[in-house]
Amino acid sequence: MKIRNRLNPSNPCFSFEFFPPKTDEGTANLLKTLEELAPLEPGFVSVTYGAGGSTRDRTVELVTRIKRETGIEAMAHITCVGHTPGELRDVLQRLKDAKVENVLVLRGDPPQGQTAFEPVPGGFRHATELVRFIRDEDFNFCLGGACYPEGHVETASRDDDLRHLKEKVDAGLDFVITQLFFDNAFYFDFVERARRIGINVPIVPGIMPITNYEQVQRFTRMCGATVPMRLGLQLERVKDQPEALVQLGVAHATVQCMELLSRGVPGIHFYTLNKSPATRMIVSALRART
Ligand code: FAD
Repeated sequence: MKIRNRLNPSNPCFSFEFFPPKTDEGTANLLKTLEELAPLEPGFVSVTYGAGGSTRDRTVELVTRIKRETGIEAMAHITCVGHTPGELRDVLQRLKDAKVENVLVLRGDPPQGQTAFEPVPGGFRHATELVRFIRDEDFNFCLGGACYPEGHVETASRDDDLRHLKEKVDAGLDFVITQLFFDNAFYFDFVERARRIGINVPIVPGIMPITNYEQVQRFTRMCGATVPMRLGLQLERVKDQPEALVQLGVAHATVQCMELLSRGVPGIHFYTLNKSPATRMIVSALRART
């Protein structure tokens, strides 16, 4: 099933993002988690692509197994990092052979130790180039891409970033998923500005339930997402009480999702960080409401 056909404001879908575990045991646990999530009827799940090494093969393997063993639609992420076009073609062919229909096309972050992104010789500098490559190779995938309501961390201005997004969408994206945000105002403003310059594909909000204080500090530093002052103060107060922190994270994300749904989003993508209980609580609450 092509994900673009599942993104519908009158019947929004929930999707869950996972990263590939490093061990076979971890993979078995993740597949079990997915079985537990299946009753929540996710529209799809997605599996991230690592910075290098063997976890990359695990993305293709895991997506294939999820599709085969759970029947849930699974999307593979792919990045330009460290790959020549020939290598990317091979990964894409493996996905196609495994009957994977949906791919999230990314540039990727600079590998650890590098401050700026540098493509391999002959490689792609921006995700747009990889989108064009995939369309030219005629793989017939449904393609998603990333977008940034608060602007990508490397960009000089949000307007520049939005123009680059327009080029990326015009190169052949079917939908985009946002970076995480904790304040819906960023998302609504972003969608309005995107529509104004002719970006017409579905823009799926990405939500990360906060479950760990240090982790949220690290993520927001990395991706530049703003923690609203009130939420920041509340987090500070419960940072040494793990249960209360999770409750706060779940409550905040649930309220965010309720507002997003009431304003007609086509779906909500959850960054689960492979910890499904928080996501399960939120989606259960949202399902109970509809
Ligand atoms: P691009 O679209 O190429 O944009 C990167 C920067 O280049 C932006 O600042 C943009 O404005 C600029 N730019 C684009 N085109 C041009 C141009 N023509 N000229 C000048 N500047 C330009 N990372 C992983 O490693 N693995 C994953 O699985 C993964 N999954 C993700 C899923 C989602 C939903 C999101 C939001 C991010 C994910 N990331 C992942 C992180 C992502 O790889 C980083 O945010 C990365 O820094 C940018 O990737 P991109 O595809 O958005 O890049």
